[in-house]
Amino acid sequence: MPSQHLETIALHGGWRRDPATHAVAVPIYQTTAYQFDSAENAANLFGLKELGNIYTRIMNPTSDALEKRVAALEGGVAALALASGQAASALSVQNLARAGDNIVSSTDLYGGTWNLFSNTLKDQGIEVRFVDPEDPEAFGRATDGRTRAYYAETLPNPKLRVFPIAEVAAIGRAQGIPLIMDNTAAPLLVRPFDHGAAVVMHSATKWLGGHGNSIGGLIVDGGNFDWSAHAQQQPAMNTPDPSYHGAVWAEAAKPLGPIAYILKARVTLLRDLGPAISPFNAFLILQGIETLALRMREHCRNALAVAQYLAKRPEVSRVIHPAFFEGRAAEWTRKYLPNGQGGLLGFELKGGTEAGRRFINALQLFYHVANIGDARSLAIHPASTTHSQLNEADQMATGVSPGYVRLSVGIEHIDDIIADLAQALEAG
Ligand code: PLP
Repeated sequence: MPSQHLETIALHGGWRRDPATHAVAVPIYQTTAYQFDSAENAANLFGLKELGNIYTRIMNPTSDALEKRVAALEGGVAALALASGQAASALSVQNLARAGDNIVSSTDLYGGTWNLFSNTLKDQGIEVRFVDPEDPEAFGRATDGRTRAYYAETLPNPKLRVFPIAEVAAIGRAQGIPLIMDNTAAPLLVRPFDHGAAVVMHSATKWLGGHGNSIGGLIVDGGNFDWSAHAQQQPAMNTPDPSYHGAVWAEAAKPLGPIAYILKARVTLLRDLGPAISPFNAFLILQGIETLALRMREHCRNALAVAQYLAKRPEVSRVIHPAFFEGRAAEWTRKYLPNGQGGLLGFELKGGTEAGRRFINALQLFYHVANIGDARSLAIHPASTTHSQLNEADQMATGVSPGYVRLSVGIEHIDDIIADLAQALEAG
């Protein structure tokens, strides 16, 4: 069959029917363990001579369907579902970098990732070197012999400047360094593997699940990075692993396909640290993905309409949306987001912090929440909430001015969305 379109993969990827019951919907395999066929079968499963179910901390048939579907949507070879996007970010780096190593990351990150990188990974001995993504060459300049990965978000908020994926991936590949992309805000809109990224991660909590009801994360292996060719720069993949009888992952995984990175993450980090997704959450996220293509189309259309509306309002001094940039940022929007610019936007109220607070309090349809990527419209005023611990200079450095409001535009009727914004602006 010719390769399918994303709308079709979202419904069919990774699953046809349940092999035991022929059920069409993916069943929730709410089980901890799996009966082995024989002593030999058990030994083969533990020794990775056969792949199969052992224990739900490490694999589960419901999560397996989710993993296969997201891998297919991203154009990767295999995926690993995890308890949260945070777990996916952490494991995606820990899979390559060990104490004494470093990674180079974009400064434009979700706050939770920023904390993970600047505190927890630092405590574990992994240094994160932050560089401004406006200058792709900065990644190369920050690299040394102990750099194990580059890390960035496709469409980071609040700045919403698209990351130059191909430009940075090429710099890394020349030195044996894979680019890990957090594609949470742009599923289906950008496929980072098409631009040279080696690993993709998602907070499935957001648009993938899409209904604000389950926390989950995924890491996807592009299968497009030659770990053996960069033995010096990638020791975690190329030196014997004492926790698996000295397996060298870049070699040991070869009979199973180009899945060394994701296999190692599953059978070492997930096994040892344990951030497993519950089968129920995997089911809910799969259910969400079935309508992802439809939802993304509506999120993009509504967000652009809201941006155009807000740009005309006298209370608003600036609208931040990927379609509104000039210069190089506009070039990157055209290059990476030709099929829609996502559901996020920001705007600045001329009245500053007080106007921001009044606006948020007056909203009736929009929810006031810290989340993004729900089918419902969501809003937050970062200066008085998510960024309130930072001083004003640091807030400005992260792109948050006193009057900045972030919207995650939902799929309600556009007239209702605009009516709510209009009455809240008037109240502010
Ligand atoms: N990456 C991005 C871009 C996010 O927005 C978030 C959460 O807001 C995360 C990662 C972390 O995901 P989770 O909340 O599922 O742990």
